[in-house]
Formats: sequence, C-alpha cells, structure tokens
Amino acid sequence: MTKSLQLIMPDREHINALTPQATIGPEGLRFLCDRMLAGLGKWLRAAGYDTVVADHGAGDTHLLERATREGRILITCDRHIEKERPPLRQAVVVLASNRIDEAAAELTRRLGLDWEHRAFTRCLCDNTVLRSATPEEVQRVPEGCDGTAAMVCPLCHRLYWRGSHTSRMEKRLAGLARG
Ligand SMILES: [Zn+2]
Repeated sequence: MTKSLQLIMPDREHINALTPQATIGPEGLRFLCDRMLAGLGKWLRAAGYDTVVADHGAGDTHLLERATREGRILITCDRHIEKERPPLRQAVVVLASNRIDEAAAELTRRLGLDWEHRAFTRCLCDNTVLRSATPEEVQRVPEGCDGTAAMVCPLCHRLYWRGSHTSRMEKRLAGLARG
C-alpha cells in the first residue's frame, strides 16, 4: 500500500509549537502551497484558510524559510524536501498526489481541516479577509442576483455575492469535507 501523505512533523503539538499562536486550532492553520498544488491552494482559500502559493521558481530552501518565517505549513509534493536540514523542514506536509480531492482528503484527516465553516471569507485572488459590502457597493451586484450577503475585498475591491457560482463551490467544499 502506498502512503499518499507523509507528514514529516506528525502531530498537532508540533504544529502548534511552530506557529506564532501557540494554541491555535485547525481553523488557525496557515498554508504555503508549492506551485504544483496551486489548485489545492485555491480551495483552501475558498474554505477560508490563510493560504499563499509559492512564487515561480522558488527553491526548497526559500520555501522552507518562508513557511517558517510566516508561521505557515508548507504543502508540497516534493520528496527531496525531506533531505533539507532541520529545523527548516519541520512544518512540511509532503503529499504523494497533487490531485485536489486526494490531497484534500489527506489534509483533512491529518490536520482536522474544516472546509465549510468559514467558506468565502477570503479574497480568492489575493487572500485578503473580506468585509461586508456597503449599500453603495451592493449596487454593483448584477441585477437579479442576491446582494444581501455581498462582501468586498479591501485590497483589490472585488465584489463577492451569492449565486450559482457559490452554490457550485459550496457543493465542492462539502465534497472535500466528506473526503
Ligand atoms: Zn482581493
């Protein structure tokens, strides 16, 4: 049987020790996805997790240093990273698959992720926490769409409203939550 995920740092206590907030729950986890896992990163962000995707060409050491500096867990498919010197390699989850469903199922099992609790609370483009839209901003919601729970990104000013697109994404998140 192949192991689809290997967690170099195997338990939550170690994760808590690494992150600035010493007693964070799963909802406080922050992630750095390598480029191969940008798709997974998008869904982590849709689920409300503070998630960034690595820059093009960023090497292992750079990724590990960034994860450590920003209190993020590096998610990667790169097994070579296990050869990196400790303690840099501590907060790393190495996945065998970059398929979103498999990767998400393993992350959920290992880290206790909740894919639905805070869905659509971050900008999908730049990871910024959204705020409620003002009445003026709600005017920008297309006619016939529900603007009651519209949100705005304070950084890029994108407007998010509920519609068929969010329903589709909610279904996908529910699927990821089921594993
Ligand atoms: Zn934004």
